[in-house]
Amino acid sequence: VKVGVLGGTFDPVHLGHLVLAEQAREQLSLDRVLWVPAGDPWRKAGATITSVEHRLAMVHLAIGDNEKFDVITRELERQGPSYTVETLRALREERPGEDLVFLAGLDALFDLPHWREPAALVELAELGVALRGEDALPAPGDLDRLLPGLSRRVRWIEMTRLDLSATDLRARAAAGRSLRYLVPPSVAAYIERHNLYRSA
Ligand code: ATP
Repeated sequence: VKVGVLGGTFDPVHLGHLVLAEQAREQLSLDRVLWVPAGDPWRKAGATITSVEHRLAMVHLAIGDNEKFDVITRELERQGPSYTVETLRALREERPGEDLVFLAGLDALFDLPHWREPAALVELAELGVALRGEDALPAPGDLDRLLPGLSRRVRWIEMTRLDLSATDLRARAAAGRSLRYLVPPSVAAYIERHNLYRSA
C-alpha cells in the first residue's frame, strides 16, 4: 500500500492543492492521499493564520466524498510547531507496511536542507515532487549535493500548471474580489458565510 502525504496550511485550500493530490495519486499509483493540515506551521512563524477549525472545515469541504482522500488531524491536536519529520514518524508507526510519499512542490524540495532532520525525513518517505510548467528537471547530481542520496528518493509528478496560491486568494478576498472557480464552490461559500479574509 502506497500513500501520499500532503501537508499544508490550507489557508484556504484551493484547486492547486486538489490537482496536486489527484495527479500525484494517478501518476505515483497511490492508494490514498492523506491531507495533513498544519497546526502551527513553523516555517510561517510570525504570519497570522486562520483558526484550525476553519482551515480544517474547508479541507473537509474541498475533498468532499473523494474516497481516496483522507484528512489527518493529528498536527492540529498537538501544541507547538509541527515538523514534517515527526508527522511522518507517527504515520509510519500507525501504518506499518505502508509506503509513504511526501508530496511537495519544487520550491519545497530546494528548501529541504533547512527542514528539521532532512536525512531522516527522506528515509521515512519518498518525495513526490510536482514539476509545473517550464520547471526544469533537476540533475541527480544537483539533488545529491542538496542532500546525499536525495536523487534516489524523488519521484516526479508532471502537474498541470495552476498559478494559484493561498496568499493570492487571501488578498483577493480581502479586496472583495471573487474566489469563484479558484476554490471549490463549497469552500467559496464557506469563506463568504464566515467572512474569512475580510478583516482589513
Ligand atoms: P501560501 O500562499 O499561504 O504559502 P499555498 O497556496 O502555497 O499557501 P500551502 O498550504 O502552503 O499552500 O501548500 C501546501 C502544499 O501545496 C505545498 O506543498 C505547496 O507546494 C503545494 N501547492 C500550493 N499551491 C500549489 C499550486 N498552485 N500548484 C501545485 N502545488 C501547490
